[in-house]
Amino acid sequence: MATDSLGLYVHIPYCVRKCNYCDFCSLPKGAGGVPDDYVDRLCREFLEYSGKAQRPLDTVYFGGGTPSLLSPRQMEKIVESIEEAFKISPSAEITFEANPGTLTREKVNAFYKLGFNRVSLGLQSIHENELKKLGRIHNYEDFLSSYKMLREAGFENISVDLMYGIPYQTKESFAETLRAVIALSPQHISAYGLMVEEDTPFYAERDTLPIPTLDEECDMYGIASQMLAESGFEHYEISNYARRGYRSRHNSLYWNLGEYIGVGAAAHSFFDGVRYSNSDNVDEYLSSRGLNNHGDRESSQDLAYEYAMLRLRLKDGFSLSDYEARFGVSFTVGKEQILERLEREGLLTLTEDRIALTERGFYLSNSILVEIL
Ligand code: SF4
Repeated sequence: MATDSLGLYVHIPYCVRKCNYCDFCSLPKGAGGVPDDYVDRLCREFLEYSGKAQRPLDTVYFGGGTPSLLSPRQMEKIVESIEEAFKISPSAEITFEANPGTLTREKVNAFYKLGFNRVSLGLQSIHENELKKLGRIHNYEDFLSSYKMLREAGFENISVDLMYGIPYQTKESFAETLRAVIALSPQHISAYGLMVEEDTPFYAERDTLPIPTLDEECDMYGIASQMLAESGFEHYEISNYARRGYRSRHNSLYWNLGEYIGVGAAAHSFFDGVRYSNSDNVDEYLSSRGLNNHGDRESSQDLAYEYAMLRLRLKDGFSLSDYEARFGVSFTVGKEQILERLEREGLLTLTEDRIALTERGFYLSNSILVEIL
């Protein structure tokens, strides 16, 4: 993806109810759906960008929260406002995140007609006890019927989200989840390790949560890498696997330090070299006016740090000469000994012009990045 690509992120901070591990900006709405006030506020924010983005959007991503809670009428209004404020490239990747249990045939068909061409469907696990403990609103059957509906509506690009390291999970139960999902032939799979975050029900239970040990979790990471590689998925980012040609273009934009505009509560932007963020308090966002232009222009040093950190999440790593041309400094000077040792330990590869983490390095990326950045 070219680094002059531009993305749009739209945050929908509502869910049916809150999962036990979730610290994202999302409010439980029960059967209430997304308030029209929020839709109106989003539309006003898009219009603030009219004429500001000088190039078409290459990606549009609706995340949350649960964007699939929007009604067809609300989504149509939002898409019309986006089209009024921005040009969308004819080949744009347009994704919405969906929670099984919130999709209907009518909704899926309507979203497809509105131009969505990619869906990220949250499954996490096929096992009832694991899903229940996570506090998910759906079971595996709900997922299967949502997946089928999406395929029947014409969606050819579906990503499935999984989790490992969750309560009650075993290596075998995780492998069963992977086997079941692989059999459905999605284009993309994300597998994230559970993080027990503060201010969540899991945090309150952290000392007694029946989660796998770190060694078991490490084995699960290895199981996912191996099973997905054997099934034709490229492990292109620490937690992401894709069939050829189906890497997430929107997330790739983040990892490549590309520019994006974030609209909605808690949304972040990196636009015109400045990072902005909107309030993560939904009421505050609703009552705010205009753009949230309280951003910082980052120093070249900060950008260089971020670039290396994000690019090392990718299998491709980065080109050392590109890095030097971009930031005016060498990445390797002063780090020769550390890099040599990590290479000897099989955690990274270093060629004349490229540095990248290995498959084993991916799992230990947090501690490796601390050492080399
Ligand atoms: S569905 Fe996603 S955003 Fe909503 S509560 Fe669960 S984890 Fe959080």
